[in-house]
Amino acid sequence: MNVDAIRNGLVIDHIHAGGGMQIYRMLGLDALDCSVALIRNVPSRKMGRKDIIKIDADMEIDLDVLGYVSPNITVNRIRNGERVEKKHIGLPARLTDILICRNPRCITTTEQGIRHIFRLVDAEKRIYRCLYCDAKAPD
Ligand SMILES: [Zn+2]
Repeated sequence: MNVDAIRNGLVIDHIHAGGGMQIYRMLGLDALDCSVALIRNVPSRKMGRKDIIKIDADMEIDLDVLGYVSPNITVNRIRNGERVEKKHIGLPARLTDILICRNPRCITTTEQGIRHIFRLVDAEKRIYRCLYCDAKAPD
């Protein structure tokens, strides 16, 4: 895989330095058959240093995971070597099945089959709370 140019796939750009590995894990990219490049500590005019992930497959990914880890991320979709889409992600208002509530008395812990939903309560401090029991999201 040519790391600079992919023909069909996704380029996840403007990940804060160090966030690339977390995204790699949370999206389960190690399970993909296609080429995936995680490029760390790329010099950036805006950010100083940044991480970039390139996925050599035209696929859907969970954008909420990206926004949660690093809200300034942009996702570029590449087809036939051309960028056809550029998305700014931002901090998601809700996270569904991304974090797990740690409160042992929470209904998501005691009952099966309930989605784990967290809502953003403080955008500046990036604080999420469980929709059901109001417990703070694990760091
Ligand atoms: Zn809870």
